[in-house]
Amino acid sequence: MRLFDERSAIVKFGQKLITSHLTTGTGGNLSIYNRSEGLIAIKPSGVDYFKMRPEDVVVVSPSGETVEGKLKPSIEIRFHLDLLNFREDINAVVHTHQVNATTIACMNWELPAVHYLVGFSGNKVPLAKYASMGTQALSDNILEAIGGYNACLMANHGLVTVGTDIGSAFNVAEELELVSKLFIQCKSMGEPKILSDEEMIIIGEKFMTSGQP
Ligand SMILES: [Zn+2]
Repeated sequence: MRLFDERSAIVKFGQKLITSHLTTGTGGNLSIYNRSEGLIAIKPSGVDYFKMRPEDVVVVSPSGETVEGKLKPSIEIRFHLDLLNFREDINAVVHTHQVNATTIACMNWELPAVHYLVGFSGNKVPLAKYASMGTQALSDNILEAIGGYNACLMANHGLVTVGTDIGSAFNVAEELELVSKLFIQCKSMGEPKILSDEEMIIIGEKFMTSGQP
């Protein structure tokens, strides 16, 4: 089987999306790029994470043709491929509808540096403009917003995170859910104090030297 390790990781981290309350049902999707093989493993469309087997995960070329797998790839394949082709440091993409980050996305707000853990994305989490699910327009809006960040909110939709591997892309989503919850709670009490860009540069350097994004 092609990309057995990557397909197994899609199953494992897909289940973690559910058990970590980052998505519900068959929502959300994940992909991993094996650059030495020139192939991408991506979650199939509409399959229960706990019924998914490695062979159900679809293997596609960087341009999106199915190389191995009987099922249809995720409906969001467009932005997965575009992100994996956009930056060489991106080898994995995670997309969720996690409640707290999505609440901020539904306000069409960015997530500012209300807590230093926003450093998992950068000095903030930018916001991609709304476009319908599965469209090239949605992918274009995500690429425009994400730039060099490791995450972006998707207006009225959810969150997308990226990483050098699936574990780090997953961690970004998990940490940003905590920061999103803190931001919502702070906004309910007043205006939170936002960390400066200078401080977030220091935090970014600390993350680099501690092996985090
Ligand atoms: Zn979605």
